[in-house]
Amino acid sequence: MENCLFCKIAAGEIPSNKVYEDDTVLAFHDIAPVAPVHVLVIPKAHIACGVCELNSDNAAVVGHLFSVIPSIAEKLGITDYRVVTNNGEEAGQTVGHLHFHILGGRRLGEMG
Ligand code: 5GP
Ligand code: ZN
Repeated sequence: MENCLFCKIAAGEIPSNKVYEDDTVLAFHDIAPVAPVHVLVIPKAHIACGVCELNSDNAAVVGHLFSVIPSIAEKLGITDYRVVTNNGEEAGQTVGHLHFHILGGRRLGEMG
């Protein structure tokens, strides 16, 4: 999708510090980490919104995305981590392309 930051990152038009990549999923370090480990996992194909656009048509790629998170975490050397997505501006979403944050490397605080 035009003018989507994460589509541009997925296409390699904007560089990123990649952690994992396959045909449908890309993981890369967040540019402004809030924890010692802060990686974003995205579907390469544009899915708008946070999770509000998930449906049976895109469930397979999201399922695959989750299936590779444990191996990404292992590669990052963390066993305890949080996987989070912000859905909507009030929840803190700033990029309108589905992404999941992997946060770890320190004791994490309470949610919310
Ligand atoms: P959100 O706020 O939508 O949940 O998450 C968006 C994340 O993207 C933020 O944590 C932000 O730091 C990260 N981010 C924004 N622009 C870039 C960029 O150009 N490169 C990388 N690697 N991360 C980015
Ligand atoms: Zn996109």
